[in-house]
Amino acid sequence: MSIITEAQIIAALSTVNDPDLNRDLVTLNMISDVRIESGNRVSFTVMLTTPACPLKEQIKQSCIAAVNAQVPGVSAIEVTMSSKVTSSCGHHGGHHHGEPHTCCSEKPLKNVKNIIAVASGKGGVGKSTFAVNLAVTLAKTGAKVGLIDADLYGPSIPTMFGLLDAKPVVAEKNLVPLEKFGVKLMSIGFLVDTDTAVVWRGPMASSAIKQFINEVEWKELDYLIFDMPPGTGDIQITLVQTLPLTGAVIVTTPQDVALADVSKAVSMFRKVDVPILGLVENMSYYELPDGTKDYIFGHHGGEIFARTHGLAFLGAIPIDRQVREGGDSGTPYILDHPGSPTSEAVNRAAMEVARRVSITNAENAAAK
Ligand code: ADP
Repeated sequence: MSIITEAQIIAALSTVNDPDLNRDLVTLNMISDVRIESGNRVSFTVMLTTPACPLKEQIKQSCIAAVNAQVPGVSAIEVTMSSKVTSSCGHHGGHHHGEPHTCCSEKPLKNVKNIIAVASGKGGVGKSTFAVNLAVTLAKTGAKVGLIDADLYGPSIPTMFGLLDAKPVVAEKNLVPLEKFGVKLMSIGFLVDTDTAVVWRGPMASSAIKQFINEVEWKELDYLIFDMPPGTGDIQITLVQTLPLTGAVIVTTPQDVALADVSKAVSMFRKVDVPILGLVENMSYYELPDGTKDYIFGHHGGEIFARTHGLAFLGAIPIDRQVREGGDSGTPYILDHPGSPTSEAVNRAAMEVARRVSITNAENAAAK
């Protein structure tokens, strides 16, 4: 019997592609801990780039098939599937206009892998609700998640997380974020009362928001979700120009996709080369007790808009009274209703966001 070598295993695994990233697992540095025991028992770890990756089982089976087909004499294969979120700065410099990413050089953000803006063309479409449920969903998969509420005019995180009277503390000149449901939180609502915030304008507002990024002890994060102020005004434009964003998620409702607002949000990100991870359609339909879907505001508007604008469609989330109630009660919807059809829709959209982040980072890494 010939001896099985680590090199043979690596060679076999280099024929397995990650279907999303279109490169093989060895090139993507996803294989580690290759071991051969008793001469013919093989084990290795596959490190995926999204937590709870939906392709996990498929990739695992492909690995087993490749080793069985290409390495003779293997008696057992043990594959450990693990995950490690990739970083948009990756400590290889940034993708914005060739300038170095601030997240690599400035201290508080040194260990923040990805900043994801959640934006909308106008207010009231459910942007904050999605941002909150996205953050909580990603945290549930085991990812380290932070959430910034940058809505100066109507901060919603204190209400949505049941933290109306909470105040962050200062440690070594930086603010320490609050933490609830596994998510680190910072909101303008924790610092000033909302009535005061309303008078904030332009430069003052955007510099306050930038402090949230740069002067908060975020420590290690896989994803920092940035709930943008709605719309495409001066504050928003300054933010997308200056924040080291990995990408943006645009939230819309079906009746609004026809409006110019959503296109304006798309153009705003494209103008400054921030990748748009995709579009989420919120309040897409109402699910009747018998399971049929009533598309109150028309069918698939968001999906068609995404396709015609070259955007990924991240998912459709139904109108659900309990989503609104969750927003008011202080416990995000998906924590109170795990497994419901609406939670499943939110979960799929959140996994799509994680997937698009991983694809965007792989594309940027390949372009360098
Ligand atoms: P935005 O951040 O875009 O201004 P919000 O997230 O504050 O919007 O949502 C506006 C209102 O709509 C809130 O009362 C929220 O609870 C409600 N809402 C958001 N998404 C849904 C949904 N899918 N079903 C029912 N109500 C929703």
